[in-house]
Amino acid sequence: MDINRREFLRRLGIATGSAAALAALEPFTALAGAASSHQSPASAPDQTARMTYRVQRGTGEQVSLLGFGMMRLPRDNQELVNQLVDYAIAHGVNYFDTAPMYGGGLNEGITGAALSRHPREKYYVATKMSNYNERLWVLDEAKKMYENSFKALQVDYIDYYLMHGVGQGGMENLNRRFIDNGLLDFLVGEREAGRIRHLGFSYHGDVEVFDWLIDHNDKYHWDFVQIQMNFLDWRHASLNKDGWKQDADAEYLYNKLEKAGIQVVVMEPLRGGSLAKMADEYASQLRSMRPDALPAEWAFRWVGSHPNILTTLSGMNQMEHLEQNVRTHSPLDPCTDAENALLEKIADGMAGVPVIPCTACEYCMPCPYGVDIPGNFAFYNEAINEHTLPLPVPTAADYAERKERFLTGYLKALPADARANQCVDCEACLSKCPQQIRIPNQMSRIVQLLRKS
Ligand code: SF4
Ligand code: SF4
Repeated sequence: MDINRREFLRRLGIATGSAAALAALEPFTALAGAASSHQSPASAPDQTARMTYRVQRGTGEQVSLLGFGMMRLPRDNQELVNQLVDYAIAHGVNYFDTAPMYGGGLNEGITGAALSRHPREKYYVATKMSNYNERLWVLDEAKKMYENSFKALQVDYIDYYLMHGVGQGGMENLNRRFIDNGLLDFLVGEREAGRIRHLGFSYHGDVEVFDWLIDHNDKYHWDFVQIQMNFLDWRHASLNKDGWKQDADAEYLYNKLEKAGIQVVVMEPLRGGSLAKMADEYASQLRSMRPDALPAEWAFRWVGSHPNILTTLSGMNQMEHLEQNVRTHSPLDPCTDAENALLEKIADGMAGVPVIPCTACEYCMPCPYGVDIPGNFAFYNEAINEHTLPLPVPTAADYAERKERFLTGYLKALPADARANQCVDCEACLSKCPQQIRIPNQMSRIVQLLRKS
C-alpha cells in the first residue's frame, strides 16, 4: 500500500494545508535541557520518558535525539534485540537505523521483526540503498534491493531512506551508482509517491561528492544527511597523514548543511568507541570538571549540543549501554563554553597521536587471507592510549620495554592466523573502508612495530 505525504500527515493529525499547525511545530530544534523542550512525539512513550526530541522540518515530527544504530546487533539472538528495542521505545527512542548490508544481510530482518511488534506510529525506521556491488548498479537490480527492504522491515513506507556511503570512489562512483542509471531519480519519485518519507544520504570520503550533492539541493531537496561527527573529527578528520585520509572535517560538513537548511543525522559520535575509552591523561581532565560523567557521556553531550542535529546514532548491543545513553539524553544537558573548550583542547592533544580511525564497522571483512583487520587496529589504538606503542624514537629510555610489552600483548590478543603478517597486500579491502584507511599500509606498519630490532 502506498502512503503519500498527505496521508502520513493526516495520520499524525496534521492537515497538509494547515500552515499554522506546521508553524506551531517550529522552530525545528527542541534543544535539550530546557524544560519546554521535553515534548513527547505524536505517539508518546510512557510517562516517565524524558527523552530530548528534535523537530523534523517539513513534517514536524519529533525525533529522539538518541537514535538506535542497529548495525552491530547479534544475528542469532532475536530475544535480546527485542528486549533492547522494547526498552528503547519505552524510554522515548523512536529512530532506528539499519541497512541491507548489515549483519551479513540479516540486520533489516532482525530490525523488522523487533519493530513490527510495536504500533507503526511508535517508530521511524531508516534504511539504505547499499548498492556497493557493481551488479546493483543496474536499475532493476537496485530496485530489488529497495523492495526487499520493505519486506524485511515489514513496512509499507520507509521513514528515512539514504543513499549509502556516497563519497567513496569519488564522483565517478556516485555517477555510476546513482545518477547515470536513473536510481536517484527513481528514489525522488518514490518520495513523491510517499513510500519514502525523507530522502538523504550517508557520506564518507571525497568531499567533492558531498559538495556536489549539497550544491544540487534545489533539485533533490535533501531532507537530511548523515555524517560522521564527534569532537575529534570536528577539526581533525582531514589529517591526511600516516596512511589514511579523509577530505573534510566534520565542522565543514555540519556548517555547510546548516547553511543549506538540511538537518544532520550523526554517525560515529564515539568514533568507533575510541572516545569512550580515551587515555587516562584525557579522561582525568574530564573527571576534574564532572567527576561522575563517563567519557562517552561527554561525547554525546558535545554532539547533541549542536542545534542542527536531528538524531545521534549509537550502536547499542548491551542493555547497560542503552540505559546509559538513554540517561544521557533524558534530557540532554548541553555542553557549556568551558566544557567545549576542554574537549577542543583534548581533541588537539589526541590528534597529535597517530590513531588509526577504524570504527570496527567490519565492512572490510572477511579478509580472504584471514587478517582480523579491526582487531589489529583496535590493538594498535589501545597501545596508543596505554602509551605502550614503541614509537617514535628507538633511543627513548623506555623504548625496549615498550617494544616488549607491545609484542607480548599482541601475541596474546590475536591468534597467529589473524595477525598483520598474514596480509599479502591484495588490496581487496581497500575500496570497502568508509574511513579510507589504507589497510595494507597500516598492516605493514604494525608488522614493522613487531620486529624485534
Ligand atoms: S590487503 Fe591485506 S588485509 Fe586487506 S584483504 Fe588483502 S590480505 Fe586482507
Ligand atoms: S578498517 Fe575500515 S572497513 Fe575495516 S573495520 Fe575499520 S573502519 Fe571498518
